[in-house]
Amino acid sequence: MAAKIISGKEIAAKIREELKKEVAELKEKHGIVPGLVTILVGKNPASISYVTGKQKTAHELGFHSVQDDQPDDISEADLLGLVDKYNKDPKVHGILVQLPLPGHIDEKKVLNAINPDKDVDGFHPVNVGRLMIGGDEVKFLPCTPAGIQELIVRAGVETSGSEVVVVGRSNIVGKPIANIMLQKGKGANSTVTIVHTGTRNLDEHCKRADILIVAAGVPNLVKPEWIKPGSCVIDVGVNRVGEKKSEKTGKMIAILRGDVDFDAAKEIAGAITPVPGGVGPMTITMLMKNTVKSAKMHAGINMQ
Ligand code: NAP
Repeated sequence: MAAKIISGKEIAAKIREELKKEVAELKEKHGIVPGLVTILVGKNPASISYVTGKQKTAHELGFHSVQDDQPDDISEADLLGLVDKYNKDPKVHGILVQLPLPGHIDEKKVLNAINPDKDVDGFHPVNVGRLMIGGDEVKFLPCTPAGIQELIVRAGVETSGSEVVVVGRSNIVGKPIANIMLQKGKGANSTVTIVHTGTRNLDEHCKRADILIVAAGVPNLVKPEWIKPGSCVIDVGVNRVGEKKSEKTGKMIAILRGDVDFDAAKEIAGAITPVPGGVGPMTITMLMKNTVKSAKMHAGINMQ
C-alpha cells in the first residue's frame, strides 16, 4: 500500500493559522505583540531571500517585525553593539542574525552575543545545553528539528518506544533532532540511534527504524530496501540535481531531490515527507512559534 504523504506545506499552513489566532489573542488580552528582528549584513541574494521570507511571514502573523539591513563593511564592534541594542529592546522577543557574515566578522562571537532568551533560532550554546538537560529547562528548540518533530506528531505517528534512526550528526539537524526524540515526554520518548560516515552497516541500522530521519545531503542515499515496511520516513535532504523551466513563470528553477529515493520508498513506508514540500516549509513556521513563545515568556504568561 502506498504511504501517507506528510505534507509540510499543509501542516505549516495550519500552524500559522493557529499562531495568527494566538498573536491576536495576546494583543487583545495582554497588549503584547511578538517582536522579531532579522539582521542582514551585505547583499547576498540567498540571504536576502531567506530574510524576506521570514519577515513576510512575521508580518502576516501580526508581529512587530523589523528588518535591519547593514552594509558589508560594518565592523564587528558595531554589529555587536546592534545585537546589544536589540537584547535590551523590550519590544523585541526574537533576534536573528542571517548567516553567512562577511569574513572580517567572527560569526560565533556575534551569535553568542544574542541574549539566549531571545535566541529564537535555538543555536546559542545555552539553548543547546538546555535541550541536553531537557524538561522545563528547554526554551527554544532549533527550528528545523522542531519542525521535524511536529510533522511526526501531527502525522499521528507513535514515538514512545519507537526506534528512531537519524542519518547525519550536524549541529543544526542531526544532533538536535536526536536529542529531541530522546526526551522523556510527549512526541518523543524514543530509542535513538545516530548514524554517520563512520558507521558500519548503515543499511542494517536504517532497516530497524520505525522512524527514519535522513539529513545527510546526499541524493538517493537511502535505498528502498533499507526502509522498514510501514515505517515513517522524514527526508530532510535538499539536493539540487538539475534545472527545469517553471510552468508558472517560464524561468529556469532548480530541480530538488531529497536523500531518499522517494518514488520507491513511498511504496514501502507507512508515511513519508516529500522534497520539496516536506520539512522545508516547517522551518520558518517554527521560528515564528519560537518568537510567540518568547513573547509569552518575557511577559510571564502561562505557556501551553
Ligand atoms: P551537514 O552539516 O553536511 O551534515 C551531514 C551529515 O550527514 C554529517 O553528519 C555526515 O556525516 C552525514 N553523512 C553525509 N554523507 C553520509 C553518508 N554517505 N553516510 C552516512 N552519513 C552521511 O548537513 P546538514 O546541515 O545537517 O543538512 C543535511 C541536509 O538537510 C542537506 O541536504 C540540507 O540542505 C538539508 N537541510 C534542510 C533544511 C530544511 O529543509 N529546512 C534545513 C537544514 C538542512 P559526518 O559527520 O561523518 O561527515
